[in-house]
Amino acid sequence: MAAAALEHPTLATLPPKQEPSDVFPNETPVVSTSVGAPHPLFDSPDADIILCSSDAITFRVHSNVLASTSGFFRTLLSLPQCPPSYKRSSSPTLALSPEVVHITESGRVLEGLLSMCTGRELPQLEDFGFVEELLHAAEKYEMPGALSVLRLALTSTTLLDAHPVRVYAIACQWGWKETARVAASRTLGLDLLGHALVKDLTYIESPHLISLLLLHRRRRDVLRQGLDSLVEFYANNQPSRCCNCQKEVVHGEWLSLKLTWLNAIEQRPADIATGAVLQDSQLHKLFSASCPHCQRLLYNPSGTILRLKQLLERLPKTVEF
Ligand SMILES: [Zn+2]
Repeated sequence: MAAAALEHPTLATLPPKQEPSDVFPNETPVVSTSVGAPHPLFDSPDADIILCSSDAITFRVHSNVLASTSGFFRTLLSLPQCPPSYKRSSSPTLALSPEVVHITESGRVLEGLLSMCTGRELPQLEDFGFVEELLHAAEKYEMPGALSVLRLALTSTTLLDAHPVRVYAIACQWGWKETARVAASRTLGLDLLGHALVKDLTYIESPHLISLLLLHRRRRDVLRQGLDSLVEFYANNQPSRCCNCQKEVVHGEWLSLKLTWLNAIEQRPADIATGAVLQDSQLHKLFSASCPHCQRLLYNPSGTILRLKQLLERLPKTVEF
């Protein structure tokens, strides 16, 4: 197994060269990778611990910082770390040598975590894959502060707009209900079962996937029921009569509009989610329709638009937990 495959960090003391079996059980020699290029932002000369990333970048940091921001390191650093022979060494060099912790994360991830824990400028959190890597590392090393920052980053417009389904999956996984609700609401304009999102859906645990699919289903149902309402839209009454001449009329334009909207929520849900359907040419045709007997306009534009807007507004907006 290579050093990068270590599940948890291990402590070593350099120099001298160690026997790998002492501190890296089941590992091939890794001492040769224990010292790499120092990271310029984390190269404190009075540091008492060195973190070495999987790509051999070293970070000289203070153990009290790690202990105060990471539950994992707090536990690790509270344990006896060095073989007694090292502790008892008479060599001043050995006695002052900082501990080296090998971790499996890359230097980029480690830099991000340490930046969040030490009050430095935050890393760019616009790359979803990077944020996901940081999340896994923050969870692994029990870093609540970093997790809070990453949770906020996930609700940024950049990540939410680009990956709402993935953000929803992560929020559900972490039990971040409010974040999940926000992310779910950002999926309303998406064709969830379209080819582009199939892979993203596989990241969602089944109960939460069902909740999201039900949200989209409920929106279709509420829209259909609203458009068919006899109370809200008199054109649904059959037979229907012109309110001016009382002769029977066929509401072909109204039926076309309903069909357009029902197709939109299936095939162009963004038009429903953004209200773009209110600008559709079908609506203009509706308002120009007139009674074939007396030529009076059949529909009241302001009243019809108001009720259509109210219908859009009462469509479910997010998941229910
Ligand atoms: Zn008429």
